[in-house]
Amino acid sequence: MSNVNETGRFFSIPISRRDLFKLAGVTAAGMLLSGAEDTHAEAAKKSAATMIYAGKEIPILYDVDVCVCGGGPSGTAAAVNSARKGAKTVLIERSIALGGLGVIGCVYPFMDPHAPNSDTPYLTELKTRLRSYGIEPFDGVTQQTWHNPETLAFIHDEMCEESGVNILYETVVVDSITKKDKISAAIVQTIAGLAAIKAKTFIDATGDAYLSRISGVDYERGYEKTGNNQPLSFRFEMGGIDMEKLYQYVVVELKEDWCKSDLPYFEIAEAMHRKQRYKLEEFMARGVETGELTQEEAEYMQAYAIIGKSGVMSCNFPEIPVKFKSTDPIEYSKAVTYGRKMMRNMANYLIRHLPGFEKAYISREAAMLGARESWRIKGKYYLVEDDYHNQSRFVDAVCRTAWFIDAHGEKVSEKLPKGGYYEIPYRSLITDKISNLIVAGRCISASFILQASMRIQPTCISIGEAAGIAAAYGLKNNIAANQIDWAKIPASQRSYTSAG
Ligand SMILES: Cc1cc2nc3c(=O)[nH]c(=O)nc-3n(C[C@H](O)[C@H](O)[C@H](O)COP(=O)(O)OP(=O)(O)OC[C@H]3O[C@@H](n4cnc5c(N)ncnc54)[C@H](O)[C@@H]3O)c2cc1C
Repeated sequence: MSNVNETGRFFSIPISRRDLFKLAGVTAAGMLLSGAEDTHAEAAKKSAATMIYAGKEIPILYDVDVCVCGGGPSGTAAAVNSARKGAKTVLIERSIALGGLGVIGCVYPFMDPHAPNSDTPYLTELKTRLRSYGIEPFDGVTQQTWHNPETLAFIHDEMCEESGVNILYETVVVDSITKKDKISAAIVQTIAGLAAIKAKTFIDATGDAYLSRISGVDYERGYEKTGNNQPLSFRFEMGGIDMEKLYQYVVVELKEDWCKSDLPYFEIAEAMHRKQRYKLEEFMARGVETGELTQEEAEYMQAYAIIGKSGVMSCNFPEIPVKFKSTDPIEYSKAVTYGRKMMRNMANYLIRHLPGFEKAYISREAAMLGARESWRIKGKYYLVEDDYHNQSRFVDAVCRTAWFIDAHGEKVSEKLPKGGYYEIPYRSLITDKISNLIVAGRCISASFILQASMRIQPTCISIGEAAGIAAAYGLKNNIAANQIDWAKIPASQRSYTSAG
């Protein structure tokens, strides 16, 4: 049986080949795209080449220089920067929007890394582009980057298009073809069926270190002291909010000074386990007394205005109990159902009792559960808590950050003194195991506690930016990705240079 698409090319061919080829013994069986002289546009053409995978002949959709797996904040930055440096680049994303948790996970705004001069060029450009679409990301007080998810998704598409990145949407990386220390192809599930993406260098920006794990890289998950991952959250948006009335109640009547900025940049919060003693704690505690809320629902509630979406707030709750692990597919799925119930109950409580929410409603649910932490690779350098407290500097640093150790669930919350920061070395993005792999985003080589600081979006973006630059540099100079010395890349080509 073979299926042929409109162009006459074989696409999904679910024929049995007598189990000739097993998962481990895949053989390329088709003509590959030529190579160096291909332009981006040529690379974008579907290949007529095929290969055998698990006994099936599958198309090789692309044969490129760099394949980025995962189109979150780090993966998108990696793909754009790799393409801009001249590498033919494919970006694989399982949803239909780029931005990861920052877009499909309803997570905004970007937190402030709290490190002086931490913005790398790509981050600065993102902010400029937001402004060009009428979204002013700076509130005039804090350094948070307020944005709008739909605008951000549009900007990501635009930047990929301009730089020649080929995006594969609704495509999931399911396996890799790895021989010795090299990945030669990612096996993906596309809308049309299984396919292969061949590349010289791979960037794992899945957030879950998925490509790394299936390719044999060592990894960790959760907190070594408790075995727990950070709690999952099911974020959502509420529309129909009277923001003026809410502001009046929280800031003027309750005298809450947590949110330093004024409307339209407005945030409400409470977290009972923190020592902050937010003014809305009593409001949520009353819900427990009346039986309208459970204690776990009342524990944490936070919402941010969304710039460009009047009367809409991004809800950073419910926080789902840690017994639902972000690394267990069954518990993860149960967390969705459990979280959706919590979401509805909490939203109804706000609608019934919080001034300004009288006409509010759930206007959007995240299309991706909020995993703060899941799997992390063990790379050439393993960042730990001491690097945070010692404010470590590295000659091969790719960025700096100072976001506090924000380990939900473990009640660990520490801050560096003002102006302090630590750096993230390129070596925490690479491994000894796979020579042509770079890892970007929240799953780099870091301990549970350190990851609780480096996981914010601006830092993940800067890491992705560096991963893209390094991937293209390595290919141009014939240096394996895991042998690149970031400090030797000419300063004019780097996104960050350590101040030492
Ligand atoms: C509840 C919550 C609140 C947060 N609050 C903030 C905040 O206020 N501000 C802030 O700056 N940060 C916040 N963060 C942290 C931040 O959003 C994440 O750490 C950051 O988005 C990580 O970026 P990433 O690129 O590593 O991964 P992700 O954002 O997780 O993106 C990974 C991408 O890869 C895709 N993907 C995964 N697996 C595959 C696969 N097999 N095939 C194809 N595609 C795949 C996913 O669809 C996704 O698009 C929060 C996180 C959570 C969970």
